[in-house]
Amino acid sequence: MTSYPSHYIGGAWVPAQSGAVLPVHDSSTGEEFARVPAGTAAEAARAVEAARAAFGAWSALSPAERADYLDKIAAGLKARTDELATTIAREVGMPLKLARAVQVGAPVFNWSNTAKTAREFQWEKRVGHSLVVREPVGVVGCITPWNFPLNQIALKVAPALAAGCTVVLKPSEIAPLNAIILAEVIHAAGVPPGVFNLVNGLGPEVGEVLATHPEVDMLSFTGSTRAGKRVGELASQTVKRVALELGGKSASVVLPDADFAAAVKGSVSACLLNSGQTCSAHTRLLVPQERYEEVKALALEAVARFTLGPSLAEGTKLGPLVSAAQRDRVTGLIELGIREGAEVIAGGPQRPQGEGLDAGYFVQPTILRVQPGDTLAREEIFGPVLVVITYADEDEAVRIANDTVYGLGGGVWSGDEAHAIAVARRIRTGQVDINGAAFNPNAPFGGYKQSGNGRENGVYGLEEYLEYKALQLKA
Ligand code: NDP
Repeated sequence: MTSYPSHYIGGAWVPAQSGAVLPVHDSSTGEEFARVPAGTAAEAARAVEAARAAFGAWSALSPAERADYLDKIAAGLKARTDELATTIAREVGMPLKLARAVQVGAPVFNWSNTAKTAREFQWEKRVGHSLVVREPVGVVGCITPWNFPLNQIALKVAPALAAGCTVVLKPSEIAPLNAIILAEVIHAAGVPPGVFNLVNGLGPEVGEVLATHPEVDMLSFTGSTRAGKRVGELASQTVKRVALELGGKSASVVLPDADFAAAVKGSVSACLLNSGQTCSAHTRLLVPQERYEEVKALALEAVARFTLGPSLAEGTKLGPLVSAAQRDRVTGLIELGIREGAEVIAGGPQRPQGEGLDAGYFVQPTILRVQPGDTLAREEIFGPVLVVITYADEDEAVRIANDTVYGLGGGVWSGDEAHAIAVARRIRTGQVDINGAAFNPNAPFGGYKQSGNGRENGVYGLEEYLEYKALQLKA
């Protein structure tokens, strides 16, 4: 087992003050395989001071000079792909091959893509007799979750640094090791001391310092709506800018003229990515009521392809959940759905049986038919659970799609793209995929309603970390 004794503050590995540690478990076996320090409020404050001290010089560099550092970081991460993929596959449970592409490939891309975006960005513009310039917000506190840990860090830290901000990162205690590797890469890239700081620890301890500290100008948070509300409330006391990326309950709406085989297969895959632990997962499948039996057969066929197994085992298509707590929460919600009258199409709350499945946090891929208004039709599950809901007509489909406090993603499937777009416009979410179209890393990603108020990716992500300043010029 590896123990990490330090935080990364002011350009150095600083030994943790308290002896308290946080265990990191391999989600496929339940084994504790690493420990990180449980940071204190004083350590978080020290990191904020280091970030404040570094802000002046870092923000004075040109965007191109900062972009060069980002490219070096991308190259440093890429060189450690194998180590990162294995680490995240163990922390999170995503199958190794997929983890290489998604959990490492995406952040490597996002670091270099942010560099490119910063080089091409219009940093100032004349508006009448004013020169409008874009300047960094200042010191940014970043709080990130465990599900796509390195990518969620990249989507915050890369644009913040590109903008000229300095950063204190508190990653999730459940998947913190990839952030330690990132800090090593940032150090090796020669990023000046204090520009990036890493403090491991718990949300209520370290995270809340970032939300309350008067020297933090902006808080960028990804995680649960519950914790997002809490940090937003705390941050309001110092009028920080707050960017929240929260939960979701996205609907995949299959219209009667869709290719049903493609739509159901695509929706099942979009639900089960990362064992359903994806904020924008399409976790509700909305289908015409008269086509329900056909959909049921297609869904069974689609789910059968997801071979459950340990993340490092060859042939695994679906890994475990991240933690025992997450497994128990998800199986508890499946049981609740069944008590409320859900029809079980596939899976269920029972522990899955099979080789390699006895010790990790496994949950069977589960498909349930529920009614609009049921708990599982509205509440985020964050596990490998797809709910099928039938609708009578298009208006009802839209009403059901919008019948949740969330508004993150979704999909519309139709043989007529214009029709699909018209329906997509009626869905109150930040993204809608038409006929299973791929994710676009330069398109804005973020939520309506209680899914949050921030936007990440490309130029939209960079702008989150910038202020406007207007300089009025004499004619
Ligand atoms: P949390 O919101 O509990 O955790 C996310 C991050 O916030 C972690 O770093 C956590 O720290 C921190 N945190 C928790 N409480 C506080 C607090 N009071 N002050 C400051 N920071 C805090 O999410 P979970 O890890 O429990 O993830 C589960 C849920 O999060 C899912 O069900 C889903 O709704 C949502 N989620 C949404 C994502 C998205 O991208 N939109 C991504 C991941 C999760 P700690 O290390 O202590 O946990």
